[in-house]
Amino acid sequence: RERRALRHAGPQAGSRQVFAIMFPDLFLDILFTTLKKEMPMRVLVVNAGSSSLKSQLIETDGKVTLMKCLAEKVGTPSAFMNVSFAPDFQKTTYNVADMPVQECLAKLLDILVDDPESPISSLSQIDAIGNRVVAGGEYFTRSVIIDEAVREKLAICEELAPLHNPPADACIDLMREAMPNTPQVAVFDTAFHATMPAKAYMYPLPREYYEKYRIRRYGAHGTSHRYAAQQAANLLGRPLRDLGLITCHLGNGGSITAVNHGKSIDTSMGFTPLEGLMMGTRSGSIDPAIVTYLMRREHKSFDEMDAILNKESGILGVSGVSADMRDVLAAAAAGNELADLAIDMYVYLIQKAIGGYYAAMTRTDAVVMTAGIGENSAELRERIFAGLAHMGMILDHERNDVTGQIGVNRIISIDDSPIKICVVTTDEEVRIARETDNLVGQLHE
Ligand code: AMP
Repeated sequence: RERRALRHAGPQAGSRQVFAIMFPDLFLDILFTTLKKEMPMRVLVVNAGSSSLKSQLIETDGKVTLMKCLAEKVGTPSAFMNVSFAPDFQKTTYNVADMPVQECLAKLLDILVDDPESPISSLSQIDAIGNRVVAGGEYFTRSVIIDEAVREKLAICEELAPLHNPPADACIDLMREAMPNTPQVAVFDTAFHATMPAKAYMYPLPREYYEKYRIRRYGAHGTSHRYAAQQAANLLGRPLRDLGLITCHLGNGGSITAVNHGKSIDTSMGFTPLEGLMMGTRSGSIDPAIVTYLMRREHKSFDEMDAILNKESGILGVSGVSADMRDVLAAAAAGNELADLAIDMYVYLIQKAIGGYYAAMTRTDAVVMTAGIGENSAELRERIFAGLAHMGMILDHERNDVTGQIGVNRIISIDDSPIKICVVTTDEEVRIARETDNLVGQLHE
């Protein structure tokens, strides 16, 4: 186009056209780089867990999701994988029985290339890959592009999240082989919490265990807390650096963070995501002596004890009904007393945690609710804030009501509430895609 313009322009040709004709290769290089920077990027987001694989193909420009995948019960005989494509997201279910997570991902890559509904027909049409990595230890305080040195450090971090990091690493390796020229980014759950002071991240244990094994609080859900804090600042119309916020990520996993001037200063998850709140199947914080007591009395192995605390406790363990809050709410409404007790405990532990972080900060401007339960359950928000009005967190019952409001970021406290209450919709995959776009975009600058 530039050359044609030059022909038409004749003697009035601008310096750009002259440059194009004199140095065509260099010009095309610059043009390509500029276009690449401006073109929407197709990012494959991979969120590999201990027994699940979540993935989306996202066009970052308009935050458009082109493909969604969810594999559950991965590694078991009843594992299945649902894959759907835009625009109507009709799910197709694939059998992935007994496959490890990286084989499920390999199958997904085949589907992406072969399915007539897929927006791509070759893996080269994926511009970048964004991987969720749970634990980055002290090595990673922000998202990084994965190269050889990063991959080596990721291997060391596996010890910190033995359930979550190894499957993520296995997926990274698989994609490095399948798409060697596509940049991959690691987005860490722990990175946002790298700003915690030592008094918040150290445990009262003999120093040698920190020095030998780096046993300390790392936290998790960092991408979600960072996003929730920024969205709350937008809602409040004030810069994040001026605010004191308590962000509550209440989903199947749960954690609460004190965000002071935009920085995490303390968070409820610890060395692993087991500490803190009561969760779907995780116990959260309990007296550590219970662990050794049960191991002795019931002759439990380390792995069995790990499974009890991570997979059989929490809302599921107390209610005996389900790990899913909707089921437990329904059971409680139908008169199930243990379901009611589970909800009471869940609410009480959140209230105590919010109170603790209120004390940890010099000021609190807002409490922010996000993730499955935080976003969707007006009933639980009602119960949580019923106990916190004396701290200045006063809910507006009408604004709290979800009718027609799901997915809308909003303030749900009364106008005069000294501390505001916000609801923010989280979308982890979109946030990972955006971080990936940012980092990979810098490669082209
Ligand atoms: P997440 O891990 O963020 O996907 O959240 C999952 C949790 O959110 C599950 O316990 C769901 O039962 C819960 N959840 C989703 N929608 C609702 C709702 N409308 N009311 C209560 N809990 C909900």
